[in-house]
Amino acid sequence: MLVIKNVTCPVCGTLCDDLEITVEKNVIIDVKNACAIGEAKFMSFSNPEHRNLKPLVRKGGELREVSLDEAVEKSAKILADASYPILYGWSCTSCEAIRVGLELAEEVGGVIDNTSTVCHGPSILSIQNVGIPTCTLGQIRHRADLIIYWGCDPYSAHPRHMERYTAFSDGRFQESEWEHYVGRLRGILGKKRLRRASELVSTKEVSLPAVTGQKLPPEFETEKRKLVLVDVRKTRSAEFADFFIQVEPNKDFELLQALRLLVRDEELEVDEVAGVPVDLLEELADTMIKCNFGVVFFGVGLTMSYGKLQNIDAAIALTRDLNYRTKFVIMPMRGHFNVAGSNIVSTWQTGYPFAVDFSQGYPRYNPGETSVVDILCRDDADAGLIVASDPVSNFPKEAVQNLVKKPLIAIDPVISPTTMMADVVLPSAFVGIEVGNSTAYRMDGVPLPLKKVVEPPRGVLSDKEILQRILKDVKRFKHHAHARPKMGTLAGEEVRRMRDERQARLSGLK
Ligand code: SF4
Repeated sequence: MLVIKNVTCPVCGTLCDDLEITVEKNVIIDVKNACAIGEAKFMSFSNPEHRNLKPLVRKGGELREVSLDEAVEKSAKILADASYPILYGWSCTSCEAIRVGLELAEEVGGVIDNTSTVCHGPSILSIQNVGIPTCTLGQIRHRADLIIYWGCDPYSAHPRHMERYTAFSDGRFQESEWEHYVGRLRGILGKKRLRRASELVSTKEVSLPAVTGQKLPPEFETEKRKLVLVDVRKTRSAEFADFFIQVEPNKDFELLQALRLLVRDEELEVDEVAGVPVDLLEELADTMIKCNFGVVFFGVGLTMSYGKLQNIDAAIALTRDLNYRTKFVIMPMRGHFNVAGSNIVSTWQTGYPFAVDFSQGYPRYNPGETSVVDILCRDDADAGLIVASDPVSNFPKEAVQNLVKKPLIAIDPVISPTTMMADVVLPSAFVGIEVGNSTAYRMDGVPLPLKKVVEPPRGVLSDKEILQRILKDVKRFKHHAHARPKMGTLAGEEVRRMRDERQARLSGLK
């Protein structure tokens, strides 16, 4: 029996690196310190019902088992023959694999995009516009005395975030408030039980008292660490919060701008903004100014509601205004465990964090034009490579229809709707469980090592190794006389015509 300590959890952007995994005969038998989601991944990742274990190629309309060499060669041929392939995914793999993916995208003259294009893409655009006052999660754990979660539900999506870095964490200069929160949770659970019992004996609706109100609670006057949650609905995280502010859907921008005015000592000549009374906003602005170290964590509830990057511009501007009065930072709640890494590696290799187009022979970046969803909706791509992602389940219908009607390659450890629709399926090993010596970036931009805890199934390679083999074959095809249509031949003219058409269409858009 082997106990491996300080294992990094390859699930969400919190990237907890204190897991203890017990392994016996190459099987994980126990997981300590992980949340339910992390534990479920380590305990059930090897379930053969969900796993891709054999390379598959579609022949006669059906996916058939082939050798790895054949599947790699087929993938390389598809990419080498394509004039405008897309390479998408990358948030659930290692930085080392992403680096090879970028080289492959350049080699085939395609577009490489990662999942931030459909989550925190607007946040990245905003950060590029106005910059971001931020810090590491360690500094927040030790120093933050006011924590605001805006448009996110850490209890459900990043279950150990509050325990490791905010409300429940014990910092050097800030004590954990867990007893206080657990006491409140017990009270809420007791009230819920009471409500269920009352509903059984009565037909009358019994409602729970909300944490919301017209005034901040008295504990906001104390020096203790405070937790505020802003969202359009009362989530589980809101039940833990000292105060919950319910903003009307798609009105975050107005609320942020109102707070900016109050922080700058301006008057608001209305009674409420975005459904929140101005008196309450004034108290919140005072609390923000009076704190010693405040932080705003924002999720896709803010990024993807009306206003998109304008919301993030306003949130960053609020943080900037607050820094004239006290110390305040802001940070996006990144979802997949290495989505931050996919942006960082892409930026250091190409200069751009996502939606990078190599079709002109050099990196171009224009989200809205070079982002994968837009390319697919315009039906411009003529092949696709998906790595550790499932766009068939998540993209708009039109984009999915255009994606699956062209040659599609999927590299994934698990069976998904995307792998089921693909023409070539390459099974890969789980990064951070079966693949070690690799790196992922936490949501605050701190790189952490990923460890191997068990051996992958026989013949299953890592994403990086598979991509390296595809890249090698692509280079071989490109140097072969028939690998890519030469300009002047019939096929070459077709490629030229498609490129010219696309360029003409894009120039018309500008
Ligand atoms: Fe893993 Fe995220 Fe849970 Fe931490 S919070 S154990 S990284 S799933």
